Amino acid sequence: MTSPYDILFEPVQIGPVTAPNRFYAVPHATGHGWNQPHGAIALRGMKAEGGWGTVAMQICEIGPDSDMANHPMERIWDDSDIPRHAAQVAAIKKHGSLAAIELGHGGMRARNMTTGFSVIGPSALPVLRPEVPAQAREMDLADIRAFRADHKAAAERARRAGYDILYVYAAHDLSIFNHFLSAQTNQRSDCYGGSLENRLRLVREVLEDTLEVAAGEQAVALRFSVAEPGKPGGLTHDGEGREVVEALAELPDLWDVNLSGWPNDSQTARFSEEGFQLPFTDFVKSVTTKPVVGVGRFTSPDKMVSMVRKGQLDLIGAARPSIADPFLPAKIRDGRIDEIRECIGCNICVSMDSYGLPVRCTQNPTISEEWRSGWHPEAPAISTGRRSHLIVGAGPAGLECATTLLRAGQHVTIADAAREAGGRVTREARLPGLSSWTRVRDYRVYQLSQSADAALFLESPLGAADIAEFGADTITLATGATWRADGVGSTSLAPLDIGDCEVLTPDDIMDGGLADRPASRFVVYDDDHFYMASVIAERLAAAGHAVTYVTPMPMIATWTDFTLDQGRIIERLGALNVDLRPNLKLVAGGTFRDTLTGQAVDLNSPAIVFVGARTPRDDLRNELRSMEGIGEIHLAGDCLAPGIIQAAVLSGHTVARRILAAGGNRPARLREQVALAV
Ligand code: ADP
Ligand code: SF4
Repeated sequence: MTSPYDILFEPVQIGPVTAPNRFYAVPHATGHGWNQPHGAIALRGMKAEGGWGTVAMQICEIGPDSDMANHPMERIWDDSDIPRHAAQVAAIKKHGSLAAIELGHGGMRARNMTTGFSVIGPSALPVLRPEVPAQAREMDLADIRAFRADHKAAAERARRAGYDILYVYAAHDLSIFNHFLSAQTNQRSDCYGGSLENRLRLVREVLEDTLEVAAGEQAVALRFSVAEPGKPGGLTHDGEGREVVEALAELPDLWDVNLSGWPNDSQTARFSEEGFQLPFTDFVKSVTTKPVVGVGRFTSPDKMVSMVRKGQLDLIGAARPSIADPFLPAKIRDGRIDEIRECIGCNICVSMDSYGLPVRCTQNPTISEEWRSGWHPEAPAISTGRRSHLIVGAGPAGLECATTLLRAGQHVTIADAAREAGGRVTREARLPGLSSWTRVRDYRVYQLSQSADAALFLESPLGAADIAEFGADTITLATGATWRADGVGSTSLAPLDIGDCEVLTPDDIMDGGLADRPASRFVVYDDDHFYMASVIAERLAAAGHAVTYVTPMPMIATWTDFTLDQGRIIERLGALNVDLRPNLKLVAGGTFRDTLTGQAVDLNSPAIVFVGARTPRDDLRNELRSMEGIGEIHLAGDCLAPGIIQAAVLSGHTVARRILAAGGNRPARLREQVALAV
């Protein structure tokens, strides 16, 4: 039988190897890295199992002078690394997929903090991390020869490990090739500097070296950022970026193209739509006959088909969509489109890389748990018997708990006081830029709607007596949390008398309480430091109010640095004339203190929207515990400990697994352990 998506399952010839379909899991940081190989292997193996025809490794350091610790990248420094890579390759090939390795050298981005080697680059300039007090050493011609030899040796090791595709990595400004290409960082006057032909000499030579190693048995890919928006003197897709593609057009077997730096490549849904990179990357197909893979948070199969038909891409690249749903290709193949767990573009996955920790995902609570917890994103959790379960609250925690129980063959009832399911994601999705949050709800509500074993009751506020009367075997409270108005936030742990001004919270804004208010002045005080205060400020400013955003921290929306959208948030608030006031701390009486000078500052605002801590809605727990004959009680999500949406989903999932394992043997979580040499 034919399907409109058949074109996505056509094989694609990539040099000497054949990808079994067009689904291409591009290299991305997993946080597992070389020192947590079991987790990394299981994560990528899962993508291959889920139908991604090609699965790639993240940046793999070619040698110790590209030491990118504290980001746990892969390593292929010497032969002792090969067995780990061979195991990775085997886990991918087991499912018929191609295995790709992104060989990389960080150049002026590598800090070499653990190896102590000097940082190398085209010119003697500060490393490209302003907060790191180090400079790069200018490579002389002997250094360049040594670098090429190192890259070639790493490619040879990758070949021996069994990879099908060997990458030359020139993207994200995280590569030595970017630093040679850029006239800003390449200030040389020899044959590797000056003209574009000279600046791209090194990447051309290394491509040729890698093709020589591959010897017609492996494909060689070039990952190249065709444009670097926002970088002073950066490449543009209609300028030197295009000229590089034209100059090297037929040399690699595969072009993997994107935007640089990482905040441009991994834009959040708040600021960009699916396919946002295409206007920059889609020229590449017109310049080369070689296959092209590109990214842009693709989750819609119709969009994928249209891109292939229009000749924009040959292979559908995905990092985040493959994290959110490792089984996305299999679901399209099997006609289960409604079951796709679509990436919401929140970048919690990305934030984990900043900490150097295994990736987490809002939509997929099983990511990084494949090996250490034995969790599978699709297979039912093992359960020890069929029981009835009541879940109070249909927010992300309650819905995830319910669907996990349901998938394991349990009978589930879920009740929510609200008119719509989704809890906080439904409410927050009404705020500017957050509409994709509803995907967290929609994926799960669809699952519940497909089973006779699930019942979802809305407009059903439950009290302790209702719950007791229901008589379920287990009760899970997933009742969420309420934003506080009493001055308690991340930097102020004691309640505060805010004085006479009106104090509102995000709950008031989301409840629409300001809808009819005439234009007024507001201070939005951010003692939460993630996205919420900036989104509230945006909402109020867009509604015509004069808004001052205040935070006691030195930066605006501090934690959004980890989700890579801080720059865009500042830009957007600026465009809306929001007055940005960092380093101001709210003090008693509703005035502020400058945290640097200690001086009092009175902003004379009639109203403050206080974005601080939240109070768990957990009263039902104590009431139920004092009653006789109640089944086992669990708490999940924000009513257990208020946090980000990803934490609520993970909590709901974990509680469900705990319920399912009750009475059974719950396997201990595995740990990556370093074996001591005897
Ligand atoms: P989480 O992020 O932990 O999932 P949310 O705040 O998103 O929490 O969702 C909690 C949900 O619980 C809300 O939709 C709210 O309407 C619902 N809720 C809270 N208390 C009750 C109750 N007593 N009975 C039914 N639903 C409740
Ligand atoms: Fe997508 Fe968010 Fe998951 Fe990242 S964490 S893959 S952005 S849903």
